[in-house]
Amino acid sequence: MASEKINQKEFDMNKRPSREEAEDAVRTLLRWAGEDPKREGLIETPKRVAKAYEEFFSGYALDPHKELAKTFEDIQGFDDMVLVKDIEFVSHCEHHMVPIIGKAHVAYWPDEKVVGISKLARIVDIYAKRLVSQETMTKQIVDTIDQALKPKGVAVMIDANHQCMSIRGVNKMLSSTTTAMFSGNFKSDLHLQRRYMDMVTYK
Ligand SMILES: [Zn+2]
Repeated sequence: MASEKINQKEFDMNKRPSREEAEDAVRTLLRWAGEDPKREGLIETPKRVAKAYEEFFSGYALDPHKELAKTFEDIQGFDDMVLVKDIEFVSHCEHHMVPIIGKAHVAYWPDEKVVGISKLARIVDIYAKRLVSQETMTKQIVDTIDQALKPKGVAVMIDANHQCMSIRGVNKMLSSTTTAMFSGNFKSDLHLQRRYMDMVTYK
């Protein structure tokens, strides 16, 4: 949490390199790869890459806590988990800056308030549109929901393919990485964890 706050603070639009500097950096990488950035097919590439980066990393400018600010208290005695599963996302690993493609399954057990269910998918997207490790992304989603909604518990499971592992390095095309993290009653009640898993895998 503390480090996240620092990251947010450090993301200062004024201190950002200019678009021109970003495009120059792409030209440098093209030369590093063995290309001629002046070749016709590559003239517009730095511009396109900078634009793509704006989309890939749009999550830095967004505050996930704001997404959960609007809550509803009239839950009429609802007393069980809310699960949004198969939230597909594309992120980028902080070690190689190549894609991580996966799905998140986000559950919480409301106490006094609930949130619009699409907001849970928004939270996943905001963290995904940053450079991440799957482990920290899993924890950040749990912590954000815990802090904003003060629910009885949160469960998050992420299953993803890391292209830094499938297209390079050990080259394991079909491998997937699963992380799970629980808080509150999901953490203390193994039976509830089991039910969460069953609901995630139920088709
Ligand atoms: Zn990586």
